[in-house]
Amino acid sequence: MSENFDMSEKKGICYLVGAGPGDPGLITLRGKACIEMADVVVYDNLSNDEFLSWARPEAERIFAGKKSKCHALHQSEINDLLVEKSKSGKVVVRLKGGDPLVFGRGGEEATALRQAGIDFEFVPGISSAIAAPAYAGIPLTHREHCSQLTIFTGHENPSKPESSMNYAQIAKAPGTKVMLMGVARLGIIMQSIIDEGGDPTTPVALVRMATTGQQKTVTGTLATIDDVVKAADFKAPAVCVIGTVVNCREGLNWFEDKPLSGKRVVVTRTLKQAGKLSSGLRELGADVIEMPTIKVSRCEGDDARRFAHCVAEVHTYDWLIFTSPNAVEYFFEAFDLIREDARAIGGARIAAVGPGTSAKLKEYRMATDLMPKDNLAEGLIEAFREEAGSIENTTMLWVRAKETRDVLSEALDEAGVILDEAIAYQTVPETEDPTGAVKRFREEGADIITFTSSSTVEGFLDMGLDIPDEVSIASIGPVTSKTLSESNYEPDAEAKSHDIPGLIAAVVQLANEAAFDGDDFEA
Ligand code: SAH
Repeated sequence: MSENFDMSEKKGICYLVGAGPGDPGLITLRGKACIEMADVVVYDNLSNDEFLSWARPEAERIFAGKKSKCHALHQSEINDLLVEKSKSGKVVVRLKGGDPLVFGRGGEEATALRQAGIDFEFVPGISSAIAAPAYAGIPLTHREHCSQLTIFTGHENPSKPESSMNYAQIAKAPGTKVMLMGVARLGIIMQSIIDEGGDPTTPVALVRMATTGQQKTVTGTLATIDDVVKAADFKAPAVCVIGTVVNCREGLNWFEDKPLSGKRVVVTRTLKQAGKLSSGLRELGADVIEMPTIKVSRCEGDDARRFAHCVAEVHTYDWLIFTSPNAVEYFFEAFDLIREDARAIGGARIAAVGPGTSAKLKEYRMATDLMPKDNLAEGLIEAFREEAGSIENTTMLWVRAKETRDVLSEALDEAGVILDEAIAYQTVPETEDPTGAVKRFREEGADIITFTSSSTVEGFLDMGLDIPDEVSIASIGPVTSKTLSESNYEPDAEAKSHDIPGLIAAVVQLANEAAFDGDDFEA
């Protein structure tokens, strides 16, 4: 740091941040803070996409990783980019998978920055070298097994004239050995270790896509592992662990034992809403594909004017009815804009359909006075009758989506309610593929697909996708199931409680029903 420190001069800096091995929970708090203050994030393809969403919307995001066919940027170009962006006074985050200094070329990038006179900081990350064994249930060191740990690379700098890797030394080193980047040359490397005196029966494990829902582990020995890997069509990226500690996995495997481990589950909600369902499924070990098929947007024109009017007049109603969390959000967003004083909401009582809607109301510090037991709009009339007896001539404002079914308004009309309807938002089909999920679904398929509303079904079909027979369908409730049947798809499971926890339970039930399909390739 310079001695005459001047806060007014904006000096660039580059943080070389370890993103961890994949699970977004395995980045450091410091790493997250750096991303949040970044003007520029330079990332590669081993880090999790979710990290990018932590950057400010206006932050520049630059992909510098290597994809199979196209090399995005060469190392010297990455160095130049980091120097150039930092030099212009920006806060640059160079996000790298695992730890930036464990086979991550962070040292080279830092040297380039130092030579250009630019400040940098290292933010260590959890290397796949330690995370992958942990998530496979393999302790790298263990008092009964070893007291030394060696980490080496199976992929050397191809420009080196001769191999600097001394397999004799590796073969003779006691304790656990961890190899990164060696899947393609696995057979040759294992044989070299055996040739140099390594015991062919030494246990070996390979862990691919560690700490993500796609994690898979295979085990064998120095002599057999290459055949096991080939038979399982096991691909990079993978971490290879060599040593008797691998035997501990039998008793300590935990991550691949979860109820949804190895299951690929599609979530069709809007990107904004996917969170709770996706994280619940991930917690149970699923490989979640977030495929937003609809997006929610504000209304325009007459609908918008009418909505603003109803919000302004909200104090004149006896009851407010909310049938979705979105409705609550759009309503209070408009209410905050129009009214300065929260008391302007008046004395209206609040009815909500679904616990998610009620929970959203709570976020705005609003209690729910009435909620039907079955989470369906149809149950609301019954609930009103039980609560208030006759509802004839009461005034109600129903805050709803443009596409909502008419059953509720018909029933309320019949009961003599003076009903106004405020259209708070509309759902429109998602036409882009913002997460790359459509491509992934087309290429890799899935085990289970979830639908949380009729509009997600319609959005999915509008994208020109169909559901192959081998993919099981989980529906949140009878209305969504009916929409599916009308499109000739029968749900394989329907949630008993029509909410996100209910849907997750239905997915687990489907996963349990599915016959064991040999997902685990233990040798
Ligand atoms: N700096 C990184 C390593 C980069 S080299 C770190 O500390 O983890 C890239 C290699 O890391 C891959 O070839 C693979 O061997 C390993 N790797 C990275 N992430 C991995 C993951 N999630 N699962 C398995 N291996 C991974």
